Amino acid sequence: METKQFKAESKRLLEMMIHSIYTHKEIFLRELISNASDAIDKLYFKSLTDDKVGLGKNDFLIRITPDKECRTLKITDNGIGMTAEELENNLGTIANSGSLKFKTENKLDEESQIIGQFGVGFYSAFMVARKVTVISRAYGADKAYMWESEGVDGYTVSEAEKETVGTEIILEMLEDTEDENYSDFLDQYKLRSLIKKYSDYIRFPIKMEVTHSRPKPQTEEEKSEDKAPEYEDYIEDETLNSMVPLWKKNKTELKDEDYKRFYVDKFYDFNEPIKYAHVKNEGNANYNALLYIPSKAPFDFYSKEYEKGLQLYSNGVLIMDKCADLLPDYFSFVKGLVDSEDLSLNISREMLQHDRQLKVIAKSIEKTITNELKKLLKNERDKYEEFWNAFGLQMKYGIYADYGMNKEKLQDLLLFTSSNEKKLVTLDEYVTGMREEQKYIYYATGESAERIEQLPQTELVKDNGFEILYLTDNIDEFAVKTLRSYKEKEFKSVSSDDLGLESTEKKEEIKAKEEENSDMLKQLAEALDGKVAKVILSHRLKTHPVCLTSEGEISLEMEKVLNAMPTEQKIKAQRVLELNPDHEIFGKLKSLSTADDKEKLSKYAQLLYDQALLIEGMSIDDPVAFSNLICELM
Ligand code: ADP
Repeated sequence: METKQFKAESKRLLEMMIHSIYTHKEIFLRELISNASDAIDKLYFKSLTDDKVGLGKNDFLIRITPDKECRTLKITDNGIGMTAEELENNLGTIANSGSLKFKTENKLDEESQIIGQFGVGFYSAFMVARKVTVISRAYGADKAYMWESEGVDGYTVSEAEKETVGTEIILEMLEDTEDENYSDFLDQYKLRSLIKKYSDYIRFPIKMEVTHSRPKPQTEEEKSEDKAPEYEDYIEDETLNSMVPLWKKNKTELKDEDYKRFYVDKFYDFNEPIKYAHVKNEGNANYNALLYIPSKAPFDFYSKEYEKGLQLYSNGVLIMDKCADLLPDYFSFVKGLVDSEDLSLNISREMLQHDRQLKVIAKSIEKTITNELKKLLKNERDKYEEFWNAFGLQMKYGIYADYGMNKEKLQDLLLFTSSNEKKLVTLDEYVTGMREEQKYIYYATGESAERIEQLPQTELVKDNGFEILYLTDNIDEFAVKTLRSYKEKEFKSVSSDDLGLESTEKKEEIKAKEEENSDMLKQLAEALDGKVAKVILSHRLKTHPVCLTSEGEISLEMEKVLNAMPTEQKIKAQRVLELNPDHEIFGKLKSLSTADDKEKLSKYAQLLYDQALLIEGMSIDDPVAFSNLICELM
């Protein structure tokens, strides 16, 4: 018989399993049982619409058969089974599984992390077995096949005898070593406790014949002699799991760690969730749900590959793995499941989209998530900030998306870095801390808080002792523009022309100065030849000689963001060069203008403009010319 080779990726995983020194090898049982349960789910689902399956809900089961003498452990299911081709594809190539992809891409070669925290699937059998045999007959097939492997050298597939549909997995256990007692996994009591621990909520019975012992009945004579009874063994077929899914259990029965373990096992995230909620809803929508907020963003979260959605069950039967309609985009990070009796079992995906009941459930779930986040923000600020660092960006997109339709729902969940100690603050905290004379919510944009802190435009607002929100993500300014105001306080960029801070006298003074120097300002603007809409005298600058601001809807920061997008059309903000009339340089410019030294004035204009660009974190058109100019003027 031809021995076939494993695909490269599978071989790697397999090798890792074989040489594993991982201490929780027991999880192999959970993995095999979970596969068996999935296979039964598939056939059960089929049986709802296909009479030919010939099995009812109560006929499905998983059986565990240990044999100490032969050192084998058998796991049998009457699920959907596998064809020869499927044996080959599913067990010869495991690189398709989503969790493995994650592992190999992230080079998480810390063995224990990988094995313990992800569903590593079928291959985990090789942590405890020297040989694995899978005999399977697929539903609808007239032949059974056998897959056999002793590890990395490859596997064989051949015809086999099996009367009924389903799969039988036979593990030939490794010999015991000094450190590892594999015989444990053939012990009934050990197996029973492992199943309770890891597979209790599997919806189909997991059965095992358990040997018990009882006192033999005694004769009257023996009884009267007060003789100690003799014991005899008897065998009982036991169901080892309670079969109640976790989410259907009473909250009082469940411990924190039950919820967390369920999450880690089911959603392949080795970080504990930051928060979870167990929802039992009755009324306009009847459903149970388990909702989890992860603590870290998955590696593909901010990419196109990421698929949002909750698992959807109809009365305990999985009908969809990622039901996207249950989550709005701004909560796409939520993981979990929903189980409802209100949904029909054999509903198609297309129909589901239009299902009224599903919409009601989705609304209710959205409310729950919002409330949970609000609670977290209020009661566990540190955790909320951790959450915010992982998923805040997504929620800010939510403000901006759909023309701001959801901004009211989300605005109280936002955090921004504040100029006060660079802490994160909510809008409510900002507004509450506003001074009586303060009219606006001030914000400044830039690459990082450190950079923004140095922007000349922030000087005046800071001098007045007002707090500024530092917007450092590309989306921020778009979100703030969508919000427009919060609690009737308008948002105001520190670069906008009217900051509401200047006294009328100061304004008039600047205006007078501008008139006085109008020729010079015009000359400067001309020298910049269309690069700026105008050159004005600034009222916001204190120590810096120049800064660049903009007029109109598009700010310099927005210009940067929009132009970074892959569109043909480039957008330009209406730039304004502001000069500080109290700065030494201003005097110098004035004297050049009086002396009518147009050439030098033009060079100064160029230099100041380039300086302003650099301070803004923007690139200058011609760095060589800039450098030459400096040398020349020095
Ligand atoms: P995963 O379960 O993450 O897909 P596994 O390595 O555990 O990865 O299993 C690979 C595939 O083999 C499964 O997706 C399934 O199609 C198939 N399989 C495994 N065990 C069984 C079984 N008992 N019955 C039917 N198919 C199975």
